[in-house]
Amino acid sequence: MAKNPATTIKELTDRLNGSLGRLSAQQSADIEQSPPRTSSGFSTVGQKQPVPYREKIQKISAEVVDSNPYSRLMALQKMGIVKDYEKIREKTVAVVGVGGVGSVVAEMLTRCGIGKLILFDYDKVEIANMNRLFYQPDQAGLSKVDAAKQTLIHVNPDVQIEVHNFNITTMDNFETFVDRIRHGSLTNGKVDLVLSCVDNFEARMTVNVACNEENQIWMESGVSENAVSGHIQYIEPGKTACFACVPPLVVASNIDERTLKREGVCAASLPTTMAVVAGFLVMNTLKYLLNFGEISHYVGYNALVDFFPRDAIKPNPSCEDSHCQARQKEYEERKTLEKPNIVSTPTHDEPVVHEDNEFEIVLLEDSEEGTATETATSSNLASGLKYAYEPQPNVDQRNDQTPAQIATHDLLISLKDKLIEEAKNKRTK
Ligand SMILES: [Zn+2]
Repeated sequence: MAKNPATTIKELTDRLNGSLGRLSAQQSADIEQSPPRTSSGFSTVGQKQPVPYREKIQKISAEVVDSNPYSRLMALQKMGIVKDYEKIREKTVAVVGVGGVGSVVAEMLTRCGIGKLILFDYDKVEIANMNRLFYQPDQAGLSKVDAAKQTLIHVNPDVQIEVHNFNITTMDNFETFVDRIRHGSLTNGKVDLVLSCVDNFEARMTVNVACNEENQIWMESGVSENAVSGHIQYIEPGKTACFACVPPLVVASNIDERTLKREGVCAASLPTTMAVVAGFLVMNTLKYLLNFGEISHYVGYNALVDFFPRDAIKPNPSCEDSHCQARQKEYEERKTLEKPNIVSTPTHDEPVVHEDNEFEIVLLEDSEEGTATETATSSNLASGLKYAYEPQPNVDQRNDQTPAQIATHDLLISLKDKLIEEAKNKRTK
């Protein structure tokens, strides 16, 4: 006998209400069981062990299927950009500082399938970092290196991640840092590259000393405290200017950078500028590691007018770092044996004024600077060759600038002078 439709509807309604009730009870239980809060109010959920989402892949393939995490990268070979992309799996990169720039750099290299990353930082993730990319609110309170490792292993379990939760500038840690540069690779040899993504002069100088000593190629990066400019720099000991070759203004003026910190004032930061600088840094890294394109010696970024000065800086023969001087001699000797390369990156005949300072305000190039532009025009190259990007002409450059560029330039100069003056006054008090 067929059921009465009225009964059926009642039965269904009761069952539905029962399910909703159970669901609501379960949700309440979930809320009660949600991660405990620490005394600082931070969730401790981030302290769980990293969970890779898949098994490691032994041999990467170029097969175009939705499940292959390397198909888009291997396509670079088919497109003729990179000759042997798989070589990236043999490479080791040390990243010093995994803050707003370094964490994004580490993520990009992880997604590109780098062989190994060695991360150095001694900071903790804070809610105040959430204006930047990479870290999640539930990681607040964790050390940056542990939080980074957790995320990176989840994204790509093929990458080996080694972390050091310490400050490289102290004596003991410096020794470990140098040891990792020397023996940190996948075959216990030298790392392929060191990337500096730190936010202070002392740490940059420490990386500089270590890399000059170890004859280690590295790249420096920085974002200004006003969040609207940044730069990257390729440093090959002996061949290009090291960080000490042209000291930043703060050092030249004998000002202790700690005295420049103003109470109640913190550096501004934007995820945009940091991502642009991280992108430039990783692009230069990929070109260096996989041998394609042209490695930039220096790229600046002025976000206010979208200006990207590109330059090359020769080492200073009277650099204060004795290891830098030794590397310069070695390079000169080596150069006499090498054949000249007609498409090498242009270099300055004179050292340029280092644009870095405590506030890292990157100025537009002065018209009297920039001898590189004369050597960098296509007319100096063998017939049929030309640079992908022509540098800006250096003669009467100011006349060619837009009113916005001139205004920004003047503003930055006056701001920098004001900050240095303030620091001097503070010091004499
Ligand atoms: Zn030097």
